Amino acid sequence: MVTPPPPAARLPHPYRDESQVLAALLQSMSGAVDWPAAVRTARPWVQAVRDNPAPFWAMESLLREYPISSAEGLALMRLAEALLRVPDAETAIALTADQLGKADFDAASGGPHKMLASISASAIALSKKFLPENDGESSLFKRLGAQTVVAATVRAIQLLGRQFVLGRSINEAMSEAASARKEHAGTRSGPGVQASNLRFSYDMLGEGARTEADARRYLASYLNAIHAIAGARSGVRSGASNPSKSASGPEAADGISIKLSALFSRYEDSQRERVFNELLPRVWALIEPAAHANINLTIDAEESDRLELSLDVLDALAGRIAVAFPQWQGFGLAVQSYQTRALDVVAEVARIARRHHLRFMVRLVKGAYWDGEIKRAQELGLAGYPVFTHKHHTDISYLACARALIANADVIYPQFATHNAGTVGAIVGMARATGAAYEMQKLHGMGDGIYREVMVDSDVPVRVYAPVGEHRDLLAYLVRRLLENGANSSFVHQLADTSVDVNALLASPLVPTAAPGIAPPSALFAATGRVNSHGVDIACLAERAPLSAAIEAIASNGVRQVAEATAADVAATMARLQHGFNGWNATTLVTRAAVLRRAADALEAQLPEFCALLVKEAHKTLGDCVAEVREAVDFCRYYADQAEERLSTQQLPGPTGESNELHLHGRGVFVCISPWNFPLAIFAGQVVAALVAGNSVAAKPAEQTPAIAQRFVELLHAAGIPADALALLHGPGDTVGAALVTDARTAGVCFTGSTQVAKIINRTLAANDGAIVPLIAETGGINAMVVDSTALPEQVVDAVVQSAFRSAGQRCSALRLLCVHEGIADHVIEMIRGALQELSVGDPALLATDVGPVIDAEAFDGISAHIARLRTQARLIGAAPVASAFPRLIAPIAFELPSIGDIKQEIFGPVLHVVRWGGDVDQVIAQINALGYGLTLGIQTRIDSRAMRLANAARIGNVYVNRNMIGAVVGVQPFGGEGLSGTGPKAGGPHYLYRFCAEQCVTINTAAAGGNAALLTGAH
Ligand SMILES: Cc1cc2nc3c(=O)[nH]c(=O)nc-3n(C[C@H](O)[C@H](O)[C@H](O)COP(=O)(O)OP(=O)(O)OC[C@H]3O[C@@H](n4cnc5c(N)ncnc54)[C@H](O)[C@@H]3O)c2cc1C
Repeated sequence: MVTPPPPAARLPHPYRDESQVLAALLQSMSGAVDWPAAVRTARPWVQAVRDNPAPFWAMESLLREYPISSAEGLALMRLAEALLRVPDAETAIALTADQLGKADFDAASGGPHKMLASISASAIALSKKFLPENDGESSLFKRLGAQTVVAATVRAIQLLGRQFVLGRSINEAMSEAASARKEHAGTRSGPGVQASNLRFSYDMLGEGARTEADARRYLASYLNAIHAIAGARSGVRSGASNPSKSASGPEAADGISIKLSALFSRYEDSQRERVFNELLPRVWALIEPAAHANINLTIDAEESDRLELSLDVLDALAGRIAVAFPQWQGFGLAVQSYQTRALDVVAEVARIARRHHLRFMVRLVKGAYWDGEIKRAQELGLAGYPVFTHKHHTDISYLACARALIANADVIYPQFATHNAGTVGAIVGMARATGAAYEMQKLHGMGDGIYREVMVDSDVPVRVYAPVGEHRDLLAYLVRRLLENGANSSFVHQLADTSVDVNALLASPLVPTAAPGIAPPSALFAATGRVNSHGVDIACLAERAPLSAAIEAIASNGVRQVAEATAADVAATMARLQHGFNGWNATTLVTRAAVLRRAADALEAQLPEFCALLVKEAHKTLGDCVAEVREAVDFCRYYADQAEERLSTQQLPGPTGESNELHLHGRGVFVCISPWNFPLAIFAGQVVAALVAGNSVAAKPAEQTPAIAQRFVELLHAAGIPADALALLHGPGDTVGAALVTDARTAGVCFTGSTQVAKIINRTLAANDGAIVPLIAETGGINAMVVDSTALPEQVVDAVVQSAFRSAGQRCSALRLLCVHEGIADHVIEMIRGALQELSVGDPALLATDVGPVIDAEAFDGISAHIARLRTQARLIGAAPVASAFPRLIAPIAFELPSIGDIKQEIFGPVLHVVRWGGDVDQVIAQINALGYGLTLGIQTRIDSRAMRLANAARIGNVYVNRNMIGAVVGVQPFGGEGLSGTGPKAGGPHYLYRFCAEQCVTINTAAAGGNAALLTGAH
């Protein structure tokens, strides 16, 4: 058992102001780059490539003809991503028809660049003619035709893929590499030219590991590759113990690139201990043979939330290498220049190398996950982006990092990976000026034109990153390359586009832009004038620290007790609220909206304290707490905006001499009854919606979570809600709740909870004398996810694990029933079993915990009894291990059942039911509809028309396609169901506030006093 070093920030904050970071970068490289000289070097390369363009089948040519922004390009990408993995002909035909149906390859290929109408595209164009109109087609002739078409399309996609993969196995790839080296040597001449200037770094393709079995498979494949490379390396005796005795250094030999996420399914900051105990030994198992063979082993760079962790891993491994293989100079990593912290990473890597007296090989890349980084920051409402938002800022950073790498030549061998001619020209100039040793790198199948020229004119060593794998494994990689080649900002893309002038192509990047290229995450809803709630990056130590401090504080102070209300309290409070209603309802909308906005700001400022309370009282994990506080903040701001937009007086048209106005105002005392599973967000959403409409509110929180509710009520009072317009009444549902619902002063009820209690409330209200009042009920559901055989199993399993087990399955939206196509069911079920094994179940206050306890003993007993029943009636798929002694933990668990009809009730816990389906997918939706609930539905398919058809057929309130099905965002995914799942309107949606209002139309005969003055004076 290794104790990892305590987390400590090695790098500055990731979300600093971009223009300031840029200024520092430019300062660090002042005078180091002679851009005009770089252009003089690069221009002939560019011209030569333009004069002798890439062959018609090359990816950049194809993507220029069919850009990814076009229907054709998108179809190509979708097919490339999914078609090869579809196991059944029926679905493959449906997918091909769906995608080709939307594109017009014929028209595109008739354009001015006829030469680029490649074989693949022509095959696709031809294919289209044979495909059935929709996947219901069954004529034998057409089906035979369709199968031929699909086979042709599969072949076309395979050809695309082949461009980026050097071989299906390491041996095939090495033999291809040998041929390439030979060919390259044959094309070169002149003194000093050596064939060995062309090297390879092999990469074993595949998705990141989701299970231990995946990780072990990758480990074996990396090991096999290292042994093969080592075996082929000339001058190295097999098993040589002293690498320094090898004929030449690792610079001159082929090497390997590895992804840490492939070697361990939980390579995450939150799992530090496991990363050190489980991942490190695996990497070490690869380092040993690589060091013995004296070859280069590079750790690829991945997402920015792992950046600090990757440096800790590097440091720990370097410490061991320093002892076991002090002479080995082949260990290295990739650094991404699009990170705003890139230059700091280079400095830290150099520090680590120095401290351990090692030399690293460092590959400088620009970065491959830019779109993903932007999306994550927006979703989490972060303070900024961890990557630059202007393409040329990434280029500036690249040059600054290059300078820094060269300046640290004593401990770093720099490897510059880029296909950008300007960047290559600048690097070559910089390196020559300093005399530093270095190499250039390219991806196999990319930048061939430029490198053809670079390698003719210079003695620059070049290493090719060479993916190895079967067709199925290359899909994700292929899509990344399609995106990269297809992006308008990409150099490779622009090079192929002759309408882009050479001067523009080689324009200096060294011009910082002050304004960010993308609005910050806080401005996500700027179009509506609303500020996005501010989130926390819990993978960032500095951002996490206030949460940890607040949790420590509450752990020592405890959660405040809230007194229960008596029947007399209820009566007295209702009287007070009835009185308070008049005053509050008489305030202007602007005043009420302003109070909500003040409350939102105050809540945002107190996020750590509210998170701590959520951890302690509701047993929520850290990530869930942050999301919940943000949701409450969003509710306040959204309903403030909605009130001003929708509840203000409307002038209505009518005859001359008459004014007609529609007014909306509060109904009276609204009773808000909320559940424990979102004790802040749902509580806040109900209460502020009722208040902003002008009602006074009697708020009854769940029995289990009164302290959170009380804190929020205090916050609202402090923000300006009068004491007699809002009161908290804590106590059991069957006493306090029942007293509120039967009170004659109750003008409306807003309830979230079980269908059963909603029905009781409904009946009680119906039995009350007096006015008929509205009931807004949001209840649960047997939420399903339908997965067809075009879905990517890894994505499905991620979505399933999050949807079924996050928050211990205690979300109304949680996945209960997974319906998987029989063609991929075995594989998906096996992955779910493996993914369950990787979950960490325990104390929710710990960062590492994925799943905390269920809310109380009653829930624990009920869910346990259900599981016990399933153990006898269903097939167990697997369960998560539980090592913690924390109370009321239920191991997330999955069972397979014969049919959808076998699921009779909603189980509010981490229990997943899985059913296989075959045949008609529409029947699956029909059976889900027949369950009677209609809250959330997940659909996983790459057939767009199928996704839309199923969504339309589903009588379900929230449908999520190709993602998880939890975490609805206010104003983005208005939330709420139909049927047994609730009455609507949707919370966080544009129709919600109306239900809290009474309407009044005021008609005035303006002509009553002596005639129609406006008409007569012509002012109509
Ligand atoms: C040998 C090799 C190994 C690689 N290994 C890795 C690796 O380990 N990890 C990894 O992440 N990538 C890796 N890559 C992929 C690499 O990141 C891309 O190929 C590279 O970014 C392309 O850069 P370029 O100079 O060829 O193209 P260019 O077109 O000059 O630059 C493209 C870069 O600009 C960025 N960009 C685009 N728009 C913007 C914007 N608005 N704001 C800021 N930046 C923007 C893109 O994200 C991309 O990084 C590797 C590439 C090579 C050649």
